[in-house]
Parts: sequence; structure tokens; C-alpha cells
Amino acid sequence: MSNEQKKESPTETVSHFFNVAAEQLGLSEEICQTLIKPYREITVEVPLRRNNGHLDLYTGYRVQHNGSRGPYKGGIRFHPTADIEDVRALAALMTWKTALADIPFGGAKGGVTCNALELEKDELERLTRVFTSKISLILGSQRDIPAPDMGTDAQVMAWMMDEYGKRHGHTPEIVTGKPIELGGSIGRNEATGHGTSVIIAEAITDFNLSFDKVVIQGFGNVGSHTALYLEQMGAKIIAISDYYGAIHNPNGLLIQQLFQYAAERRPLTDYSDADQISNQEILELECDLLIPAAIGGVITGENANRIQASAIFEAANSPTTISGEQVLADRGIPVFPDILVNAGGVIVSYFEWVQNIQQFRWDINRVDKEMKEMLIKAYKNVSEIHKSKGVSLRTAAFIVGVERVAKSTELRGYLT
Ligand code: NAD
Repeated sequence: MSNEQKKESPTETVSHFFNVAAEQLGLSEEICQTLIKPYREITVEVPLRRNNGHLDLYTGYRVQHNGSRGPYKGGIRFHPTADIEDVRALAALMTWKTALADIPFGGAKGGVTCNALELEKDELERLTRVFTSKISLILGSQRDIPAPDMGTDAQVMAWMMDEYGKRHGHTPEIVTGKPIELGGSIGRNEATGHGTSVIIAEAITDFNLSFDKVVIQGFGNVGSHTALYLEQMGAKIIAISDYYGAIHNPNGLLIQQLFQYAAERRPLTDYSDADQISNQEILELECDLLIPAAIGGVITGENANRIQASAIFEAANSPTTISGEQVLADRGIPVFPDILVNAGGVIVSYFEWVQNIQQFRWDINRVDKEMKEMLIKAYKNVSEIHKSKGVSLRTAAFIVGVERVAKSTELRGYLT
């Protein structure tokens, strides 16, 4: 079997990026082994009685990767690709992301292997409640704090908070990304996309890039807000996509108008003022910036040679495989890594947790100002290491995150 035929697993990808950074840091074999393995994984059965009377049996997961810097933190994904491999890799990524952002959390991820787009609202609620009750034993506002991810949103977080509260009393800080009416933070819903635009603004000056032609794969929470903020900054978005397909208009798309489609869960392919292309073709359009903002593993050794972007910003988690990264590096296309680009979401989740604990609300100016400061600090850190050590932007980001976690793991005495 050739390398291209053998599909790389998400854990292989994240572990590889970890190993490259660990080697740069000169970490010992025993600390590497400790850091690479998750602390705890649980698998639960999630039965759902559908409205048509059929009983669907789904499988759900919560993986806690490393908690040496604080409570486990990471989103819940309801998606057909959310299996244990995917969730395990994404949990590790959260450890390196929270450490790079320098917020006092560890890393976790959860998911149910299902297609949330096919479920009615009441079915989604029942699924959420059963899943929450089954993983609630390992959750806790000082232990493990979920948030939204693909296929979940503020409403799902409200149901999770309510279900957890039935056993433990009112605990708003058990989840972040809640509706504002229930203690959610102003600015959290748009934080990941907003943060992506903050990183892009920094990189444009630092790397002398332009944003006259921007392509975004995925138009959910992250993709749509990224598009909106970039449009406000003066960028032209020429193509976007969702689960059903992609649309392309070289003259630029009207993001405000398309935002309504995402809000109403209407497929973008209904939109008439653009050409329809596939979710593969969108990645290969000629553009200044390519922003994957949907699923993982979409830029591979197979298609990386056909990518015609000047730079890639990973708003999605783990969109680039090891071989994809290698091809792009050989072609001199910079890849701004997920743990930096999409960290705005978990940073504002941290602010939400702090506000819930303090029982005090911040205004939008404070949220935006503090998020920007933390993101720009992380960006400068990464950019400086990238330039001084001559390593890729991803390796530089992992060096910062891994070094912090290695230190806290050692100080805690996990190696004794
Ligand atoms: P979402 O469910 O709101 O949106 C996902 C988008 O991807 C939708 O447009 C959906 O139609 C599209 N999509 C789903 N499956 C697809 C497929 N097979 N091919 C092409 N498109 C597909 O999810 P989101 O919260 O916007 O998350 C998107 C990405 O950003 C994920 O990788 C997630 O892990 C990452 N992320 C999200 C957050 C957050 O705060 N929500 C934070 C950090 C990272």
C-alpha cells in the first residue's frame, strides 16, 4: 500500500506535530510518553428514540488529555466523523492550544458519532441530555468544562447545563458558549471567527500578505464569523462552502446576506448569485488566503500540490495532514496553525468561566480587548520562534504549548 493510499489517522497527525516540537525542546522519552497519552477516555452508548418511532443507537465519547495546567477544556462535536480517533486527537490539540494561549486549562474533547443536520430540534435535545447524563460523572466546573464544536451550539450548551444541574444544582460554569441569557459571555458566539480575523490581521502585516481573494471552507459558526469580520476589515470573500457544496463568485460574495442562510440552516447551494463548485474544488481555487473552517484532514499529500493560495489559516481543527504540511512547506506556502488561529474561541470560553465564577459580567469592549491582547501575545511568541529557530509556524506554536505543559507536568510530580 502506498503512502497516499494509507489514510493517516488524526492521532498520528497530532502526535507527529507534538514529536517534532518535543525533539526541538530536547524532551526525554519518558516525558514524551506521558504527554502524548490521554489521561482518561470514556465511551458511552447514546440511544435516541427518533420521531418516526425508530430507536437509533449512537456512540459518544469524552477524552481528557492533560490537566496539569487546569481543568480539562474542549468542545463537544456531533458529527458523522466524530469517532474515538478523532476525539482523542482533538483532545490533545486542546492541551497544546490552551497552553499556547496561556489560559489555566488542560485539554479535552467530546463527541457523538451522528449527523446533527438530520435531527429535529427535540431529537437533538434528547440526544444531548442522554449524552450529558452519561458523561456527567467525569465533568465538573473545576474538572472538565465542555463547549460547542461542530454540530453543537449555544442551545446544546443550555441543555447540557440544565441536565448537569439536575444532579449537581445550578452550575452555569459547567459549560461555556451558553446563551447570554443563561450566563454566556458576550462575544463568545463570534469569538473563534473574530479571533481568526485578529490573527490574520497580524500576519498580513508580518508576512506582507493581501486579502483581495479569500476562500473559506465551512460556513458554520467559525467560517461565517470569520467571513463577516474579514469583510468588515475590507477583504473580498470569493468562495465559501458548507456540508452540501461550495459557491464561488470572483467578484466577491455578500456575506451579510449569506449569513441569513447559515442562521436558517439553509444550504448555500440554494444561493443563485454564484457558481456552484464542490467542496474539493473550493480548496484548489487561486486565492490570497485559504481558510479551512470545517472538518479535519482536508489538505493532504494528494491535493496540496494543487493548492493555489499564498497562505493558509487553519480556522478548523487539524485540517492539514502530515504529508499535506510537507508538500506546502516544500512549496513555501505558510500554514498558520489551528492552535493559534482558532484560539479566540477557547480564550473567550475562559472569560465566560471566569465571569460565571465571579458572578459578574464583562462588557463587549473588555472581552474583545482582552481576547485581542492574549491572541496577539501568542502570535508574536510563535512568529518570533518561527523566525529565530527557522522552524515552521506549526512547530513554533507547538514548542510554546508543549514546553508549558511539560513544565507543569513535571512540577506536579506526574513523573514520580
Ligand atoms: P459548525 O457545525 O457550526 O459548522 C461546520 C461547517 O462545516 C458547516 O458549514 C457545515 O455545513 C460544514 N461541514 C460539515 N461537514 C462537512 C464536510 N464533510 N465537508 C465540508 N463542510 C462540512 O462548526 P464550527 O463550530 O464552525 O466548527 C468548524 C471547525 O472549527 C471545526 O473544525 C471545529 O473543531 C473548529 N473550531 C470551532 C470552535 C468553536 O468555537 N465553535 C473553536 C475552535 C475550533
